[in-house]
Amino acid sequence: MALATPIIACAYGEIALKGRNRGVFLRKLINNIHTALKGEPMISVNHVESRLLVHLEDASRAPEVTAKLKNVFGLQWISPVVAVPRDEVDPELREDLEAGIEPRLTRVSEVACTLAEETRRGAQNFKIETRRSDRKFGLTSPQVSRAVGHAVQTETGLPAKMVGPDLLVNVVVLKENVLVFSEKIPAYGGLPFASSGRTMVLLSGGIDSPVAAWLMMRRGSRPEFVHFYSGRNLEEADVEKIKELAGILARYSPVPLVLHLVPVVPYEMRAIGVVEDRYDMVMFRRFMVKTAVRLARRNSCLGLVTGDSLGQVASQTMYNLGAISSDVELPILRPLIGMDKMEITAWSKVIGAYETSILPYRDCCSIRSPRPILNARAEDLLIYSEKMLLHEAVVEAVENTVRIKVSAC
Ligand code: ATP
Ligand code: MG
Repeated sequence: MALATPIIACAYGEIALKGRNRGVFLRKLINNIHTALKGEPMISVNHVESRLLVHLEDASRAPEVTAKLKNVFGLQWISPVVAVPRDEVDPELREDLEAGIEPRLTRVSEVACTLAEETRRGAQNFKIETRRSDRKFGLTSPQVSRAVGHAVQTETGLPAKMVGPDLLVNVVVLKENVLVFSEKIPAYGGLPFASSGRTMVLLSGGIDSPVAAWLMMRRGSRPEFVHFYSGRNLEEADVEKIKELAGILARYSPVPLVLHLVPVVPYEMRAIGVVEDRYDMVMFRRFMVKTAVRLARRNSCLGLVTGDSLGQVASQTMYNLGAISSDVELPILRPLIGMDKMEITAWSKVIGAYETSILPYRDCCSIRSPRPILNARAEDLLIYSEKMLLHEAVVEAVENTVRIKVSAC
């Protein structure tokens, strides 16, 4: 019963904490819901009593719509709703009030009892929480909660608990319907997509960078991806895996995303014979960062994102991160910096990237010198940058970049 519903209630999380800006974030969230549900039989999205109510024309699409809503950042919980029409509620209520007896709210109570039974699992207690958006309803919210709570207590045998109940049944009184819901399908929270500016994400074929991208998307950033490939051309590099990872991330975006594919040959041609082997890894990273900044500037991105995690590999020591980041004109966001590989892997599985991330791929970083320096100094990188004409490499790499659009896969 619970899923055959024409209305899905969505709770937003962090947006509720926003002060005067809340309206801006909410509008963005509602727009994103509309875009994410394009093609679905959606009638409207209304903001009612701190929730967003998605009204569907066709209740049978509720499971698919729920799955799509789960990927809309900014939403915390999604609940399929049972709507009891007011004309099944009001006549009985009028009778009870006129007779001066305790209001029964039979239909609402029946639904609340069924939902409580269906979703109670190991619950030891419950609470009915009522909100009225129709203030003309004959009962106050506490009166509704009391009447429905009484029925649920009798039916389930559970005691009511006002603070921190195991099971919460929500009742929302609207003009045309009384909504009842208790199931809470967790969504990912965060801020609405594209509410925090664009970033250029350095996307490799590994486990880390797709997770980094996803975490920043969850903070409201709209990503563009940049991938550096080795080999003479894109066919030789075989970047299908990278496109697939970008496609997986696009599942969390209401619009297709852009992937920039950049050759590393311009770096290699100039570094050979100039950059000492043990400096090659950090210099190569500097090339990636400088190139990503140039692309970012051309595409209105305000920062870079990488999947670095402190100490994970030689290029991610504090010294090397510092040297690579020195004199970079945009902030480099590293959302995984304090996470260990187990945590990152767990996220990778949650977002659906893991199976693709572990497919074999010849990343340009994995073919660099096996013994990189651990404590590079910014001054040395500057000297090498001048010697090898790093800036020219960056300009040439950007000139030869291929830009593609990737849709959710
Ligand atoms: P992941 O590649 O996902 O991080 P990894 O640990 O194998 O897994 P590292 O070599 O640690 O990769 O690279 C650190 C970061 O540098 C990556 O998270 C990514 O942001 C960036 N990076 C590495 N290789 C590339 C590449 N070929 N193109 C774009 N960015 C890359
Ligand atoms: Mg890594």
